[in-house]
Amino acid sequence: MIAFFKKRKLALITVVYWFLLIYIVSALVWWFIALESQNTKMFTYKSEELGKGDPDYNYRLYVLTTERDRKTAQYIGEGSTFFLLILLGAVFVYRATRKQIRLSQQQQNFMMAVTHELKTPIAVTQLNLETLQKRKLDESQQNKLITVALQETNRLNALTNNILIAAQLESGSYTLNKQPIDFTALVRGCANDFSSRFTNRLIDTKIEENIYAEGEVMLLQMLVNNLLENALKYSPKEKIIQLVFKKKNDKIYLLVIDEGEGIPAVEKKKIFEKFYRSGNEATRTAKGTGLGLYLCKKIVQDHKGRIEVKDNHPNGCIFTVTLNGI
Ligand code: ADP
Repeated sequence: MIAFFKKRKLALITVVYWFLLIYIVSALVWWFIALESQNTKMFTYKSEELGKGDPDYNYRLYVLTTERDRKTAQYIGEGSTFFLLILLGAVFVYRATRKQIRLSQQQQNFMMAVTHELKTPIAVTQLNLETLQKRKLDESQQNKLITVALQETNRLNALTNNILIAAQLESGSYTLNKQPIDFTALVRGCANDFSSRFTNRLIDTKIEENIYAEGEVMLLQMLVNNLLENALKYSPKEKIIQLVFKKKNDKIYLLVIDEGEGIPAVEKKKIFEKFYRSGNEATRTAKGTGLGLYLCKKIVQDHKGRIEVKDNHPNGCIFTVTLNGI
């Protein structure tokens, strides 16, 4: 119902926008035609008033013609400037409105997603703890429930961290605590953590030794974790994930390669926007909030680096982070 009214409101805004734009441009064209016809009339009137026998007839006609042409040129110049300004304004308003509408839709999706994402781990953990409390289970069953509860709390922790850090980075209230770090150890730690959490997944790592950088440990961990998590989330269970970490000419390269569905060309830029998630909230199956890659981009930028995504062949994508080494 709300979506229906929103669509109607959007349609109304679009109609009003185009009506105003067409009205302004038509008024401008009308203004030009009216002035030009007045100019021509004045020229005809004045030239008729000139006596043919006047010895200066040719000169005066020449002056009148020059004046008419000058005025025509002036109207064309002023008209084109107005037209260009109107066009620029229209494009600006159109783009700003579209961006705003998209952001508000994404924000709503985010609220829906985050509510779901927060509730699920809490519900699972609660249920597992209650089962442990009420029933006498054997050790292996207990361990199973505890492991699931721990996984869910880890997920909850990562999610809340993402939300908090994104808010702090955006408001500028987060002060980066950069220090020289053993980047190799950090990346290896993240990879090992994923390998032990997702024992059914194949994670192939090529991690170069002794790579150091200046950065904040917690943020760089988030960066690696978010990229790995996406690779796992958006590729089938049986497909391999590759993590390459290397250094070349003082530049550090982190590549996360998967063999999933990949990302369509039109979405490659959008996926780094805040709250952006491809597909429809109602039909989407993968869990998430649309904050992961936005955070990755912010973290990389705060470390004076770059992040980009390319197609992997034949399937999937390659996320490449480039940072400065020390
Ligand atoms: P989330 O995963 O929470 O939706 P992200 O910001 O991490 O949010 O990612 C934004 C979108 O980019 C995802 O919704 C997904 O559509 C797309 N995406 C990210 N990583 C991958 C990947 N490795 N393969 C395919 N699509 C991806």
